[in-house]
Amino acid sequence: HRLTIGLTGGIGSGKSAVAALLAALGAGVLDADAIAHELTAPGGAAIAAIQQAFGAEMITPAGALDRDRMRAAVFADPAKRCALESILHPRIGQAMRERAARTAGPYLVLVIPLLVENLPRWRSAVDRIAVVDCPESQQIARVMRRSGLDAAQVRAIMATQATREARRRAADDLIDNSADLAALQKRTRDLHAGYLRMAG
Ligand code: ATP
Repeated sequence: HRLTIGLTGGIGSGKSAVAALLAALGAGVLDADAIAHELTAPGGAAIAAIQQAFGAEMITPAGALDRDRMRAAVFADPAKRCALESILHPRIGQAMRERAARTAGPYLVLVIPLLVENLPRWRSAVDRIAVVDCPESQQIARVMRRSGLDAAQVRAIMATQATREARRRAADDLIDNSADLAALQKRTRDLHAGYLRMAG
């Protein structure tokens, strides 16, 4: 691909919505979260390393990562979060490199939720950084509506992520998602047109 976009944004900002719109317009899209799920499904390529680092109690009888247990463990302990990320991120990066070659499209979009948090790791993998942005109050409302978490729980997750300001500073392309989905669709169409031009 002549052009690779790193698409990111805070929880509930609208990354998946933008990725789906770009995919529908023909862009090649690879999603770090989807790859992380595959890596930690039964037989997944990260299971052995997770078991070694965290113990067999983190693996379900079916052989998958016990997501609830891991979420609780890393939430309470930054060192554990770091250990998990050091297992997952290199493998996600490798899978993305392998799949990029097999992904059709005039340009490639890598959806990376924690791109700004891990900028040194991802900087060289992408040509541009696109950030989906909306006020934090909207992130909270959207996540609450989707998940059943309460506002304090969403805020606690947001506190583990980069600040809105840090993401905005890292952005080459800022995608405002503070209005309705029709407005997001229009912005995404314009962005796609620009990426097609850049990809030549
Ligand atoms: P996460 O980081 O949690 O995966 P995300 O950044 O991928 O979230 P989405 O899943 O795209 O965000 O959006 C979060 C929720 O908000 C979804 O239910 C989505 O349908 C809704 N949503 C996104 N954008 C808008 C909008 N402009 N207006 C109303 N609802 C929206």
